Amino acid sequence: MGQGPILQAPETFFIAPLSRPAPGSVGKTGSWRTSKPVVYEDKCTGCMLCWLYCPENTILKTSNGKVAIDYDYCKGCGICAAVCPFKAIDMVSEV
Ligand code: SF4
Ligand code: SF4
Repeated sequence: MGQGPILQAPETFFIAPLSRPAPGSVGKTGSWRTSKPVVYEDKCTGCMLCWLYCPENTILKTSNGKVAIDYDYCKGCGICAAVCPFKAIDMVSEV
């Protein structure tokens, strides 16, 4: 479950303008979460489907070809876990 160094999405994904989350008027949106996605690297194939579907753009490619979550802004919606075809993401309660 460890996360390698976080990189930006690879250049092959720069086919459209990308926005990155930033603090809003009430701070970082990660504080809204009640559960967080946890990536199991042994199951992750690096297919980036979760990145494609994440509405907050809080999934980043790591140097080892897997993905990491930006918990400062992830809102815990669970879409990434639902779409992962390899069941490599679990939602874990934080409350
Ligand atoms: S969808 Fe699943 S297998 Fe694909 S990159 Fe995301 S966590 Fe890894
Ligand atoms: S839980 Fe939602 S906001 Fe957080 S990384 Fe997954 S898809 Fe993105």
